[in-house]
Amino acid sequence: MIERAVDFERLRWMRCGTCSNEWHINSEWLALFEQGAEACPNCGTDYEPLGRPDFWVSPDDPCHDDSAVGGSFWYHTSTHSNGPDRAFDPTAGLTTVTKRRFRSISGDESALERWASRQRAKALHLGTYEAAIENMLRRMNDQDGVNDQFYLYRVRLRQDAIIEPGVHPELSGTFGDVHLSEHCSPEIDIFRYVNTHEDPSSISLAVRHEAIHAVQMIPIPLRVDAGDAWVSAATSRLMEAAIRSAPEPKTDVERMRRHQKSTLSIEASSLEEEVAERLPLGLRDRFDRYFDESSLTAEPIAFPAKLAGLAMLVNNPLAVLELLDTMPWREV
Ligand SMILES: [Zn+2]
Repeated sequence: MIERAVDFERLRWMRCGTCSNEWHINSEWLALFEQGAEACPNCGTDYEPLGRPDFWVSPDDPCHDDSAVGGSFWYHTSTHSNGPDRAFDPTAGLTTVTKRRFRSISGDESALERWASRQRAKALHLGTYEAAIENMLRRMNDQDGVNDQFYLYRVRLRQDAIIEPGVHPELSGTFGDVHLSEHCSPEIDIFRYVNTHEDPSSISLAVRHEAIHAVQMIPIPLRVDAGDAWVSAATSRLMEAAIRSAPEPKTDVERMRRHQKSTLSIEASSLEEEVAERLPLGLRDRFDRYFDESSLTAEPIAFPAKLAGLAMLVNNPLAVLELLDTMPWREV
């Protein structure tokens, strides 16, 4: 099996939507491009809604080759600890009232079952290790998943799974909901697409459950040792901040604000900034707003340990992969 080298700062591959020119870029170029200060080196099209350059897959990506797709490990992050679960019941989380409404609105007894089977048929998204980690960080940031427990899966595909030829543009769907049957013929199990959001310009896969042979799983972020120097210093800083009163407002605007930022939340933000500064440029803005004040009283070390654990997923992926290596494979 192929374990691809992890690199959160690899060069990205671009394709111009206007002239089809393709070229490599780095994160500095990307930041300038997003501000309108860089453009396609061939035709000058910049960051516009139509015909703009966008991420594409490099012709050198080994996963253009079907045998490399089947022979590589793939990754996925989820809040489910027993995924992928074919017996999953999507109606389990619905209340009796919701179920009743479902029936009365549609006027059809089988509507709920049809909805459930459509939910079960949704494709799973697999990608590089980097894409899986970035996906979790985005969900923690954008979708209020900050306090959810996440799990990292390493996936082995079935060798007889059928792969749709070619690499395709990213499929659009609400919250990544994709039904393969709407995009390719019914016998296809695996659909390759360009991921433009996580580990941009890498290949991700939308797969049927049946395409998965086995998985390994660990809860993430990893536990950071309570004796870790940064974690214990950060914990002390939070504890001290919690008993200091809020800084006196200095300006009229600050005085007019109803809610002063507490000393504690200011300290928590500065810890987040310290950790973010040690991350690749493209990930820094995903690394904030993780602080939960109530956890400080319950377990003061929890927040700094979580920050350090999250950073370790990016800065020390070998430690994560070594831990995964110790886990048994579970066939699904
Ligand atoms: Zn161009």
